[in-house]
Amino acid sequence: MDKIKIVIAGPRGRMGKEAVMLVENTDHFELVGAIDRKNNGKTFAEVGVLPNSTAKFYEDIDQCFKETNPHVLIDLTTPEIGKVHTEKALVHGVRPVVGTTGFSQEDLERLSALAESNGTGAIIAPNFAVGAVLMMKFAKMAANYFKDIEIIELHHDGKLDAPSGTAVKTAELISSVRESKVQGHPDEKETLDGARGASYDGIRVHSVRLPGLIAHQEVLFGGEGQMLTIRHDSFNRASFMSGVKLAVDTVMKIDQLVYGLENIIE
Ligand code: NAP
Repeated sequence: MDKIKIVIAGPRGRMGKEAVMLVENTDHFELVGAIDRKNNGKTFAEVGVLPNSTAKFYEDIDQCFKETNPHVLIDLTTPEIGKVHTEKALVHGVRPVVGTTGFSQEDLERLSALAESNGTGAIIAPNFAVGAVLMMKFAKMAANYFKDIEIIELHHDGKLDAPSGTAVKTAELISSVRESKVQGHPDEKETLDGARGASYDGIRVHSVRLPGLIAHQEVLFGGEGQMLTIRHDSFNRASFMSGVKLAVDTVMKIDQLVYGLENIIE
């Protein structure tokens, strides 16, 4: 089998470093370059990310794609630049696998149209942990029976977007099977702004940011005299990498944009 040539955007970041190790340790993956805002022209070895790699860092994504001719871009950067990278990849016919969160519905629609018109596969997943995908599926299932639902997502304090992509995705899945509902007392008032969290179709979403955390989420379902809690914890960033690996293999076989790991694990 020919190797899948991969460029990683954000290779010095917490997720990016794990992705570098994933690519390095997977026989049929080949790391051909990195996109970064630092270290232009240096090799992975010179930057100290991978001691024996001569693949280069690029600040200019167009130059990177032209010189390295990759099959796949893995993007693990920030919401602002991640969108630009994904669009550039699709324009170049490079298949994006995007873990970067914070994409709006409008972004997804635009990128989806671009992927479809180019016939280029793309996968964007706000959570690559298989356990988190199951949590979302179970939450959707439970929402058929419980209509009062609050989502509490907890992340490290370096996270830039709130609520998390996983919380938004969970709320979307729940609202696809649950009629819109205003929760809590109809006359409730916040005496501190934000006390009741954000509202997605009436589902309350609360974001906790604390040092020491990685990525965690609880979905609480309240019913008469009972409560169901569905919880998932990622204790380290390696928890996301089996999903990234699956996405890289899958993106080579599709010709449109797929949003969410749950759509490729069935
Ligand atoms: P991080 O440690 O802050 O890493 C982000 C990296 O992106 C850094 O190396 C940063 O470089 C680089 N970067 C920032 N702006 C850039 C630009 N303009 N051009 C090129 N590179 C740029 O963040 P992280 O914790 O690894 O998370 C990365 C993303 O993955 C976030 O969006 C996060 O929400 C998401 N995430 C997704 C999953 C999932 O399963 N899908 C799981 C966890 C996290 P500097 O050091 O110079 O700033």
